[in-house]
Amino acid sequence: MIIKGTALALQKLVEGNQRYLAGQLTHPHQTAQRRLELLHHQTPFAIILGCADSRVPPEVIFDQGLGDLFVVRVAGNILDEAVLGSLEYAVAHLKTQLLVVLGHRACGAVKATLEAMLADETGEGHLDFLINALKPAILQARQQDGDLLDQAIRVNIERTVNQLKEMEPIIAPQVEAQNLKIIGAYYDLESGRVEFWG
Ligand SMILES: [Zn+2]
Repeated sequence: MIIKGTALALQKLVEGNQRYLAGQLTHPHQTAQRRLELLHHQTPFAIILGCADSRVPPEVIFDQGLGDLFVVRVAGNILDEAVLGSLEYAVAHLKTQLLVVLGHRACGAVKATLEAMLADETGEGHLDFLINALKPAILQARQQDGDLLDQAIRVNIERTVNQLKEMEPIIAPQVEAQNLKIIGAYYDLESGRVEFWG
């Protein structure tokens, strides 16, 4: 069952992406007045956990503005302590009811992990952390048919959604109580379309 607030939030994202696809951006909520309205509070209608990739900026592809989206971006849209803390803040304190894990076609982080695994190499510096976080998705995708990179990108989105749903003590109870809906989404860099799952 989808609760009403969540359905509305999802509808706003879908409609924003449709405007982006049609080249009919309205650039909502980007005025000085909006900025001032938000001076002492924020009530973003959706949380987006997206990739740091420069080609996937949530406010652009969903045609949103100030105060609309609580965005956490990290290469490969993976979880770590800082990411989780940020998401938990939005769920617990801002009471945002929709969380979207947004992956995308041709994700460089997933591709780099795949290449490192094929070459049996570890990553330089802190890149190794990303590679280790993304490896399980590639191992799982290897069991499936289709393009390995694209399957791994999709598996990684799904894994992150499932991990979040189980995340105690803040996120899981909110999902259970139907105060929070967590869904995956896939952005196609070529068409500009976002495909929502679940
Ligand atoms: Zn990416």
